[in-house]
Amino acid sequence: MLKLPIYMDNHATTPTDPRVLEAMLPYFTEKFGNAASRNHSFGWEAEEAVDRARQQIAALINAKPKEIIFTSGATESDNLSIKGIVEFYKDKGNHVITCVTEHKAVLDSCRALERAGKAVVTYLPVDKYGMVDPDDVRKAITDKTVLITIMYANNEIGTIHPVREIGRIAKEKGVIFHCDAVQAAGKVPLDVERDGIDLASLSAHKLYGPKGIGALYVRSKGPRVRLTAQMDGGGHERGMRSGTLNVTGIVGFGKACEVAQGEMVEEARRLTDLRNRLQAGIFERLDEVSLNGHPTERLPGNLNLSFAYVEGESLLMGISDVAVSSGSACTSATLEPSYVIRALGVSDELAHSSIRFGLGRFNTAEEVDFVTDRIAREVTRLRDMSPLYEMAKEGIDLKSVAWKAD
Ligand SMILES: *Cc1c(COP(=O)(O)O)cnc(C)c1O
Repeated sequence: MLKLPIYMDNHATTPTDPRVLEAMLPYFTEKFGNAASRNHSFGWEAEEAVDRARQQIAALINAKPKEIIFTSGATESDNLSIKGIVEFYKDKGNHVITCVTEHKAVLDSCRALERAGKAVVTYLPVDKYGMVDPDDVRKAITDKTVLITIMYANNEIGTIHPVREIGRIAKEKGVIFHCDAVQAAGKVPLDVERDGIDLASLSAHKLYGPKGIGALYVRSKGPRVRLTAQMDGGGHERGMRSGTLNVTGIVGFGKACEVAQGEMVEEARRLTDLRNRLQAGIFERLDEVSLNGHPTERLPGNLNLSFAYVEGESLLMGISDVAVSSGSACTSATLEPSYVIRALGVSDELAHSSIRFGLGRFNTAEEVDFVTDRIAREVTRLRDMSPLYEMAKEGIDLKSVAWKAD
């Protein structure tokens, strides 16, 4: 029997893997020590657990354990890297390069620096697949550029940027490269050496770990990256992030990375198959559906589709037993179409009609078939009520219709 509701929104968050929960449990109870307590076994035990997690996380991205700085999540990691670098290297320059489809944690950090007069930011465009052109990165670099911040894979459309090329350009020009790698870590092979990444933001809850724990990878050699701490206190985490470590969360994060490393290849293959099954099933049953994002360079579990003549929000309401996301964000008064989908050059209407499916570790083929059927039936039902869809099917060019206001 299928268990409802079905969760297919794994880019927003993932359920905690039972193996991760099991590893965490003792650290809520008998192993409650403060990892900074140096004088007794409670502290040592906690410190050992943190060291082990550091190794597990570092191994996933080919880093050294001491290069992992624990934070409260990727929002903090993005803030710390962008604000921390701009502040530390202010005598060298004040120019930052990013991209229009970045996560809000990156974009808003950049905006805050601009407003404070601390940085000048270049927002690079993307192509119709959501990919940034490495040549644009190269051309944007000036002698004032202190940071390039471009994500590994996009959280809405799943597009994977040409990170290795961007890393190579950054190295060549001597510019620090920060990468929001939240959606890529544990899903596709990520290697900070091969990819030329100097700073990487990670978050446990996007790879079957707990919420509220993240990390920032900070390169220690070639170059040694420095940054200004954004939190003053006891000087934890090599002075980059003060605060008592969330040992339980860190243990879970480490375990999640270990599991991901062991299963990534097999899981990526399985999720790609499921995603392709979902995509093929929907395309078979519906017309006027378009893919948002890159056809091949995309995350295994990501499918982002626009259903023309259908409001994404109405579609979501009609399939209440399926948890997916729409490309519209309810802001105070207006329904804003997603800035990521808009950046692809699609119309506001199509952006409003987009749905993001995020397949994950615990989804099954049976669930995919159920969701395919629910989507196909609901889109058909909504289109049956749509005069626009009817006109389009009758061959009327909607762009040529002179609409009357009265
Ligand atoms: C979820 C996400 C974040 C924020 O991570 P939190 O740990 O929830 O703060 C940042 N960047 C990307 C790409 C994300 O998907």
